Amino acid sequence: MSTENPESGQDPRVAEIAVRLARACHRETGNRLAAHGGMPTYDTPLVGVAAACDPLFERYKDPAIIGLHHRTPGGWLPGAAAVVSYFLPFSAEVRTANHIPGLPAPEWVAARFEGEAFNDFLRDRLADWLRGMGGEAIVPCHTPEFQIVARRSNWSERHAAHAAGLGTFGLSRSLITARGTAGRFGSVITTLPLEPTPRPYSGPFDYCPWLMSGGCGACIPRCPSEAITPEGKDIARCAHHLDHVVRPVFAPRYGCGKCQTAVPCEHGIPNPGTRPMFRRAPAAGISG
Ligand code: SF4
Ligand code: SF4
Repeated sequence: MSTENPESGQDPRVAEIAVRLARACHRETGNRLAAHGGMPTYDTPLVGVAAACDPLFERYKDPAIIGLHHRTPGGWLPGAAAVVSYFLPFSAEVRTANHIPGLPAPEWVAARFEGEAFNDFLRDRLADWLRGMGGEAIVPCHTPEFQIVARRSNWSERHAAHAAGLGTFGLSRSLITARGTAGRFGSVITTLPLEPTPRPYSGPFDYCPWLMSGGCGACIPRCPSEAITPEGKDIARCAHHLDHVVRPVFAPRYGCGKCQTAVPCEHGIPNPGTRPMFRRAPAAGISG
């Protein structure tokens, strides 16, 4: 596992954070799935930084995006200057195991469950590192104020990552990063004035061929609950599948990730010219 992280920006403190996160993923036993022969959960993380005053955080309060309850970085930490966001791509072993259709692979639900525990560990370590660099730091999802309202949290890891230049949203609502969608996100807000990393895109959907030009669409037939349609993702339908189909089999673990595996955005940014893999049904009443 390399510690190289070309997305880490020019700020040497951000580069140092990227190296430390990569080292933790490489060395910590928490990044291995004991029940699956020590299979690595995550590959080398991607790291990005957004300015706390980035206008995107105010825009996320739009009910059409997240909602008024979504807090800005300054709403979490007075004096906030930056948001450090990271993406933990699932290992090839975890991703490939989930290429099967139907129920999630046991490796996937373990990576989702034990992997999130390791992500929590990394969030706290990152906050400690930022404090060691001289700033205050807070992990929003580890505070008593963290809430999920109508399936939308008051701090979205994916939206923080989008602001930090890590990726754009797809039809499946996953964030498509340079290492794909299959993985987990984390973030820490700090008073350290870290240099923001560039956002190499202009719009929120730039990397999804379906949303940009009608290509791909592979996540539509991959979804076992038909929660993804040409029009978008039905979050309630997805949640019902997780709660009533997956959980009874794997409790306390759960997960699915079919829309993040065996699709062109699994482990990279799809080619914009990806051919359509799903055809809309002809509209009723129209005959040839
Ligand atoms: S599978 Fe294709 S259509 Fe679905 S989110 Fe990924 S890139 Fe977009
Ligand atoms: S997680 Fe599973 S059920 Fe939910 S949208 Fe993706 S494929 Fe469908």
